[in-house]
Amino acid sequence: MESQVINMVETAVWDLMAKVLNENQGICTCPKCRADIAAVALNNLKPRYVTSNKGQVMARADNLDQNTYIAVLVALAKAVEQVAPNPRHDESPQP
Ligand SMILES: [Zn+2]
Repeated sequence: MESQVINMVETAVWDLMAKVLNENQGICTCPKCRADIAAVALNNLKPRYVTSNKGQVMARADNLDQNTYIAVLVALAKAVEQVAPNPRHDESPQP
């Protein structure tokens, strides 16, 4: 059976992204900005790798311990503060 290595912290960053963006109305949420926010947050977080068999339910944020969960939320909030005022594209995709 094939296994893959998953960074649970990265999974959590993407899981919690929507929640953090919801709490920060008015910022750009295009895929580019979301990727920037995820990258900044992940650079400030320690990775936590787990192995997972392909097809198995992916490691999810619910399975993270409380400290890691909070660390991810804090890192995301800081990343939003850093990325949102300086979107790295010229045209605004917002209506
Ligand atoms: Zn954007």
